Amino acid sequence: MLFKTHLVFSLLIGLLTYNYFKLNYIIFILIILFTGILPDIDHPKSKLGRKLKILSYPINFIFGHRGLFHSLFIALSSSFLIWIIFGDYYIPFFIGFLSHLIADGITKQGIDFTYPFNFFKVTGMIKTGSFIEKVIFLLLIVINGYLIFRLIF
Ligand SMILES: [Zn+2]
Repeated sequence: MLFKTHLVFSLLIGLLTYNYFKLNYIIFILIILFTGILPDIDHPKSKLGRKLKILSYPINFIFGHRGLFHSLFIALSSSFLIWIIFGDYYIPFFIGFLSHLIADGITKQGIDFTYPFNFFKVTGMIKTGSFIEKVIFLLLIVINGYLIFRLIF
């Protein structure tokens, strides 16, 4: 999935879940947006990877794209660290990370949630950057717009 699709998808997940937790909802959604794009740090050509080349190149070299940084192991272990340092804000951290994995899971390339063990590889039918992804992107914008509208009025 493209950067912008991850962003609007994680925003949707944030808007649908923030109410269930007693956390500051602005911070909650900002964290979800951040971790919604974070896994692509393993790709030097991704939007995030280009900004943080010093991290994305070595990570990509060692783990590859959609490898360990697109797995539940990193999602859970980094969430655990966030829990130790920031308490309950591990929740949006984990939710955002998961939203990224799910969105990549519906692409043709897919992801292996249990990388490197290959127990739970998920692939979908959507080609990254394709017309269908653009339709999904627009749909997500409409739904998010509606949810934000309802939040305000
Ligand atoms: Zn990704």
